[in-house]
Amino acid sequence: MKVDFSKTPDGLVPAIIQDSNTNKVLMLGYMNEEALEKTKKEGKATFFSRSKQRLWTKGEESGNFLNVVSIAVDCDNDTLLIKCNPVGPTCHTGTDTCWSETNEVSDLDFLKHLQDFIDKRKAEMPEGSYTTSLFTKGTRKITQKVGEEAVETIIGAMANDDENFLYEGADLLYHLVVLLTHKGYRIEDLIKELKKRHK
Ligand code: AMP
Ligand code: ZN
Ligand code: ZN
Ligand code: ZN
Repeated sequence: MKVDFSKTPDGLVPAIIQDSNTNKVLMLGYMNEEALEKTKKEGKATFFSRSKQRLWTKGEESGNFLNVVSIAVDCDNDTLLIKCNPVGPTCHTGTDTCWSETNEVSDLDFLKHLQDFIDKRKAEMPEGSYTTSLFTKGTRKITQKVGEEAVETIIGAMANDDENFLYEGADLLYHLVVLLTHKGYRIEDLIKELKKRHK
């Protein structure tokens, strides 16, 4: 990959940061050659901050790093497109992207938020949380709940009780994500498997 840093007097090229799962544009920063090298080497998006006038690894204070999945350069080698897995919100205002005024997420994106929330519960294990109690009780309890909610979903469907079917289906999905997380996976791992079959 050849990047042309000579087009601007300060040797900076714009780097568009895109979420590799949702394809949302998260932020835009500038990189010089050194920032790009550090990004490649460490796998975390690092920019040359024009306000700080130094290399800046996104997340260095907040922990909200951008873990790099792929780096591509445009047709005339002067703009980068970097796909990342963001840890937490990318914008320092607390929103997922630098262009969202609210934290409202689309219905499918909510699954990612749910996964992030469950990861956080697993990491912090706050007392009094139902998710914490599931992690504490372990595989047997969690799998039992998945089975129970699956049966309840089936009963709702067979009885043509749509309200109950949707309610229990939501319970099933939640407990399945807890089970995945308990086993060290994420919902993305299931989605990857689905995508593989779709080829
Ligand atoms: P962080 O790199 O997330 O630890 O944030 C450190 C500082 O960088 C913040 O206090 C902001 O001044 C700035 N910053 C963080 N995220 C962004 C962003 N997405 N766009 C512009 N500046 C940011
Ligand atoms: Zn270009
Ligand atoms: Zn921002
Ligand atoms: Zn239920």
